[in-house]
Amino acid sequence: MAPQPYDDRDGLIWLDGALVPWRGATMHVLSHGLHYASAVFEGERAYNGAIFKLGEHSRRLQSSARMLGFELPLSVDDLDRACDDVCRANGIRDGYVRPIAWRGSEMMAVSAQQTRIHLAIAAWSWGAYFGDKSSQGIRMKTSTWRRPHPDTAPVLAKASGLYMICTMSKHDVERQGYDDALMLDWRGQVAEATGANIFLVMDDGRLHTPIPDCFLDGITRRTVIDLAQARGIEVVERPIWPEDFGRTREVFLTGTAAEITPVRAIDDWQFSPGALTWALVDDYRSITGQQLATAAATGS
Ligand code: PMP
Repeated sequence: MAPQPYDDRDGLIWLDGALVPWRGATMHVLSHGLHYASAVFEGERAYNGAIFKLGEHSRRLQSSARMLGFELPLSVDDLDRACDDVCRANGIRDGYVRPIAWRGSEMMAVSAQQTRIHLAIAAWSWGAYFGDKSSQGIRMKTSTWRRPHPDTAPVLAKASGLYMICTMSKHDVERQGYDDALMLDWRGQVAEATGANIFLVMDDGRLHTPIPDCFLDGITRRTVIDLAQARGIEVVERPIWPEDFGRTREVFLTGTAAEITPVRAIDDWQFSPGALTWALVDDYRSITGQQLATAAATGS
């Protein structure tokens, strides 16, 4: 059965200061954000009625907007409240929250200094980002597109325009039967997936992850680094090259949507999701108040 389209659902969406009926939360086709990607957004998850790391997401939305040269119409505290209100109004206890801000229709050309900044927040129930694959491990293929140089795009913003190459990359590898694309950066170093950061458990037993100097330093990435260090695992942030996969035992992705997703193959490299990955999956489930993977497996 085809999934229910996102513009045709019951519920309420917060739009420019008010909760409006879901199907009526529309914007004009001559919105600058649509034509020129002057838009920034967030992806948040609620667990047991509370949005995980909400303050960090709201602050990132504000800083993404500033990187694109505009101010949000709400303070970070008011944004936090509005996100909570949307979850409550829709009865979402476990789900995904999507705030988005964009330039409006007052000007329609590259220059858009006088446009009004719009803000919408929607929330919906949502399962695992990679579905059943989330527990088995996904298969990835390296994209022909690369994350851009920091001089060529606002690479640290969660900006809509930066997702154009992610969608193209993901479509390309999906057509070849893979679950996600691995994005290298402009230097050819390993960067991230199309919507998540990447970690490697290498033969030295340490956890390695690329330095986020041209892609998002994910909130989940930072959380997982803390969780690993709390377990006494050494985390190495360094330039990682594709050849490093030859000395790697386990690979996983981290992201608000992806949570911690094991990876079982990248191109011709094979990995076995192992003890360290599952330990961190359980730690992450524990701090987000979910049932532990090991408990779920044994039915306890
Ligand atoms: N990289 C990209 C391109 C993403 O879209 C995301 C998801 N927001 C991440 C990394 C992970 O970020 P976070 O852990 O903050 O969700």
